[in-house]
Amino acid sequence: MKINSNYLKLENNYLFSTITKKVEDYKSKYPKKEIINLGIGDVTQPLPTAVINALHKAVSEMSSKHTFRGYGPEHGYNFLKTAIRTYYEKRGVFLEENEIFISEGANSDLGNILDIFSNDNTVLIPDPVYPVYMDTNIMAGRKIIFMCATEENNFLPMPDKNIKADIIFICSPNNPTGAVYNKDQLKEWVDYALSCNAVIIFDGAYEAYIQDRKLPRSIYEIEDAKKCAIEICSLSKNAGFTGTRCGYTIVPNELRFEGVHLNMLWLRRQTTKFNGVAYIIQRAAEAAFTEEGQAEISKFINYYMDNAKIICNTLQNMNIWFTGGENSPYIWLKCPKGMTSWEFFDFLLERANTVGSPGSGFGKNGEGFFRLTSFGDRKNVEIAMKKISSILI
Ligand code: PLP
Repeated sequence: MKINSNYLKLENNYLFSTITKKVEDYKSKYPKKEIINLGIGDVTQPLPTAVINALHKAVSEMSSKHTFRGYGPEHGYNFLKTAIRTYYEKRGVFLEENEIFISEGANSDLGNILDIFSNDNTVLIPDPVYPVYMDTNIMAGRKIIFMCATEENNFLPMPDKNIKADIIFICSPNNPTGAVYNKDQLKEWVDYALSCNAVIIFDGAYEAYIQDRKLPRSIYEIEDAKKCAIEICSLSKNAGFTGTRCGYTIVPNELRFEGVHLNMLWLRRQTTKFNGVAYIIQRAAEAAFTEEGQAEISKFINYYMDNAKIICNTLQNMNIWFTGGENSPYIWLKCPKGMTSWEFFDFLLERANTVGSPGSGFGKNGEGFFRLTSFGDRKNVEIAMKKISSILI
C-alpha cells in the first residue's frame, strides 16, 4: 500500500497555532491584561430569527410520519435552489435549477470540485490568499503557479498572457486582503480563461459584504463567464452559518471542456460521494433568502461594516496604507515602521493588547502586511483602535 505522498509536500501552516501560543504565553505572564482579538475569521452575531424559526419548524416536521424526510436529493432540494435563483435574478443573473448544487459550505467544495479535473492541469493561485486553494492542489500533485498580489497592483493581480493556466482561482472579495475586482478586471480574467481554455473557480464567500453597487458580486454578471467559470458560495459569513454549514456551487450548463459538460461530471461526482445537506439545514438556508432573513442579514453585515469603518478611519488618521474594509470584512494594512508581519504582531500584542493575523501566514507576498477583521464586538474594536492610535502616533 502506498500513501498519497503529495500530503508530505504540504507545508505545516503554523499561523493560527503560533498566534494562540503567543497569546497564551502573554496571558500567563500578564494574567490581568484583557486581550482583544481582531484576528478572528469567524462571525460573532447569532443566526437570524427567521433562520432559527425555520430550523424549529423543520425539526418538528421530522417528528411526524407524514412530514418526515429521509435521504434527499444529493444536489439539494428545489425549494432552496428556487430561493438562490431568485437571489441571483435580482442582480440580473439567470440560473437553471440543475446548475445549482447545495453544499455543506464553500470549503469542502473548493477541494472536492478538483475531482473532476485531471491532475496534469496547471493551477493559477493568487498570493496571498485563503490557503485551501493551494493545499488542495498540492494534495492532488498539481503544478501551481502563483500570481503576485502586491501593493503595486492593489492586491488585485491581472492575467499574464505569457502564462498558460488550466485552472484559475479567484477570490473576490479576497481573504485576507479585502480587495475586490471590478467588472472590467473580471472581464479580463474571463477573456483570458476563454483564450487559454481554462476554467475559473470563483470564490464568492464574501459577496454579501460588497457595498458598492457597481462592483460584481457574482462572476456571472460578466459576459461569457458561464462559458468558463464555476462559482462557489457560502452562507457562513453572511447568514452566520459557519457552524451550521450550508453553501452552494454553481456549475453552468454552458461549461464544456473536451466536449464534456462539467455539470454532468460534477453531478456524477456528487451523486457518488455525497448524500446531500440535511433537510433542516436547507430549510434554514431557505429562510436566510426570504425578505425577513435578508433584512436581518443586512443588519449584521452593517454592524460588521461599521466596525470596519472604525478600523479604516483609525488607519487613515495614522497614514497607514491599507486595502479592504470598504466592501469586505477584512482590512489589510502595511505594517508601520518597516516591521515584519510577526514583529508587528508582537508589537500590537504587547503594546495594545490586540491580536491580528500576520500577513506572511497567507503567502510570501503577505510579508510586511497584517490582517484585521471586523467580526469583533463594537466596544472592543473601539478600545483596540484607541490603543493602537496611542502607540503609533
Ligand atoms: N472561502 C474563503 C475565501 C474563506 O475565507 C472561507 C472561510 O473563511 C471559506 C471559503 C469557507 O467557508 P465555509 O464556511 O463555507 O466553508
